[in-house]
Amino acid sequence: MVKAIVGSCWGDEGKGKITDVLAENADIVIRFQGGSNAGHTIINDYGKHALHQMPSGIFNKNTVNIIGNGVAFNVPYFVKELEYIKSSGIKEPKILISDRVQLLMPYHILFDTLEEERLSDKQFGSTKSGIAPFYSDKYAKIGIQICDLFDETLLMERIKAACCIKNVLLEHLYKKPLLEPEKIFKEVMSYKKFVEPYIANVAEYLNKAIKEGKEILLEGQLGALKDPDHGIYPMTTSSSTLAGFGAVGAGIPPHKIEKVYTVVKAYSSAVGGGAFVSEIFGDEADELRKRGGDAGEFGVVTGRPRRMGWFDCVAARYGCMLQGTTDIAFTVVDVLGYLDEIPVCVGYEIDGKVINEFPVTPLLEKAKPVYKTLPGWKSDIRGVKNYYDLPENCRNYIEFIEKQLGYNITIVSNGPKRSDIIYR
Ligand code: GDP
Repeated sequence: MVKAIVGSCWGDEGKGKITDVLAENADIVIRFQGGSNAGHTIINDYGKHALHQMPSGIFNKNTVNIIGNGVAFNVPYFVKELEYIKSSGIKEPKILISDRVQLLMPYHILFDTLEEERLSDKQFGSTKSGIAPFYSDKYAKIGIQICDLFDETLLMERIKAACCIKNVLLEHLYKKPLLEPEKIFKEVMSYKKFVEPYIANVAEYLNKAIKEGKEILLEGQLGALKDPDHGIYPMTTSSSTLAGFGAVGAGIPPHKIEKVYTVVKAYSSAVGGGAFVSEIFGDEADELRKRGGDAGEFGVVTGRPRRMGWFDCVAARYGCMLQGTTDIAFTVVDVLGYLDEIPVCVGYEIDGKVINEFPVTPLLEKAKPVYKTLPGWKSDIRGVKNYYDLPENCRNYIEFIEKQLGYNITIVSNGPKRSDIIYR
């Protein structure tokens, strides 16, 4: 069975932890979009690890971890992460890389950085990992597929074609030194020996695995509100963050994705700019950020403090709808245990009218939160193993949100560790 694990909102919902938990029984874990621009933090028997590009199944010696064709594949980063994994005492993971995945080129990082500089105070708050230039090139058909490394003439031609356009921008827009195709060719060819052992026809492999009844997880990055089509455009990422894209980014039949676990965090947080209706500020935000610890404080890639907010039913319901949710994994509930009462955003007021459908960006910018306040449970729920052992007000909070969202919460995560998990 194929299951997708994806985010409802801005990302940082705890997908890495949920994937790590579900990966215990998985034969295959696949990354199908994004790149090294976001991270997952996983805490298990091997300690605490921040992964960026590696699928979260690497802690399981039998799981095959796949970099799908939809990923923006940063080879130096991959090599670094693999070294890190080996040096952390984790058994060398089984890895496959799609022969159709495209390479994140050194100039993608350069252009990401230059463009953010050029935009100055209008910048997107990019992680400068090269993701937007990468996907622009892919769809403009000047990207480099990993298979091009095995045809040097073709590779050189393709690098020259890309540099031709980029050098016009470097000269006239950014006023920077030009790219030298030969230098880039050499650098990229140096990737070959690192990736060659892992390259495979992943789509064939996965379709065969599906026929054999293997347990397969699609691991999403970021969340629905960062999707370039359905998210808060243009404050989005550049590849689809939706479970449906898993079919494209991995090469499997869409109807084979039978389960979609949408990871929903018990409060809101976001890194980077853009509308954030239920955002809170000052001491209230600082306290939540501090209590959130790893889950609340800083982005895994940038180290920037996350923006904090109360739970947003409008945004999360929309995110769950677009993901095609079959199950919700509701995470980081433990962090709210200090509050006497907990506001929950149940609607948006725009121009005097209250709505609960997530609007397009210009209207979202005008939305004001409508709150309902629920009583807190004032206790530490870490270590609780059974749903009915949770305090009544905690269950009421979970069930209130479940009703608002209209999807079943079947997993509750009540701490960062693999073992802090409650099945309903
Ligand atoms: P992801 O990108 O969705 O995987 O999320 P991140 O890894 O960026 O952020 C999630 C953070 O929350 C990590 O530091 C996790 O260790 C932590 N986390 C996950 N689930 C829980 C939970 O139930 N409780 C607490 N306190 N932390 C959690």
